[in-house]
Amino acid sequence: MKNITLALGLAVLSVASIAGEGPSWSYSGEAGPDKWAKLTPEYATCAGKNQSPVNLSGFTKADLKPIKFSYKTDNDEILNNGHTIQVNLPAGSSIAVDGTQFDLKQFHFHAPSENLIDGKSYPLEAHLVHADKDGNLAVVAVMFKEGKANKALAKAWAQLPEKEGEKLNLTASLSATELLPVTRAYYSFSGSLTTPPCSEGVRWLVIKQPMTASQSQIEAFAHAVHHENNRPVQAINARAILK
Ligand SMILES: [Zn+2]
Repeated sequence: MKNITLALGLAVLSVASIAGEGPSWSYSGEAGPDKWAKLTPEYATCAGKNQSPVNLSGFTKADLKPIKFSYKTDNDEILNNGHTIQVNLPAGSSIAVDGTQFDLKQFHFHAPSENLIDGKSYPLEAHLVHADKDGNLAVVAVMFKEGKANKALAKAWAQLPEKEGEKLNLTASLSATELLPVTRAYYSFSGSLTTPPCSEGVRWLVIKQPMTASQSQIEAFAHAVHHENNRPVQAINARAILK
C-alpha cells in the first residue's frame, strides 16, 4: 500500500508544508527541482534514473492495447494544495490496462505541460492519477492546447480555490471523461511522480491527441497557482518510449 500513501501524500505533504512541519519544496529557488533530491533523504529518488516528466521522442513501436475507461459522473472535491489545483474523486471510476484495473483517485494540472511530445510544450497538462489494488500507480496525461473551453474545467473552475489550503465540494457533478479526447491512442513509458518524493515505477500513459481549453481557463489556473508548476524534463536513460 506504500505507493497509494505516496500518491495521496501529495495533499498530505502540502498540508504539512503549510503547517511548516514537513520538508517543503517548490518549483524555483532554494527548494527548487534541482535541489529536491537533497532536501531530505525521503526525496532521494528525485535523482533516480527513471524520472518524470520526459520529452517523449525516439519512439519504439509497440502493440499498445486500448485503455478501457470507466469513469463515473460524480460530486467531487477541489483543492488548492499550493502546488496545483487537484480534484479528488469518490471511489467508482477506473481504467483497465493490460488486464489490470487501476482506480482513479484524483486529477490535477500543470501549466505549462511537464511532458513534452517531440519537443513540443503545451500550455496545460492534466494528470489523472490511478492506483491498482497493490498500490501500483498509473497516470493518464492529457495535453491541452488553447481553443474551445473544456466542459470539466468550466465546472471545476466555477469554484476554483484561489488560496493555498482551500478545499471545496463541487456543486456541479463532472466526469473525468470530459477531460479525454474521443481518440485515446497513447504513448507509454515507465516513470515517476513528478513531485517529491518522486517515487518510481509509475506507468505513464500519455494521450496523443490534445484537448482544448480556453485562454481564460488556462489563465485562471495560472492565477490560482501563482507560479509555473512544471518540473523540467528528466533524462530518458535506458527507457523506451512506446507508441
Ligand atoms: Zn502531476
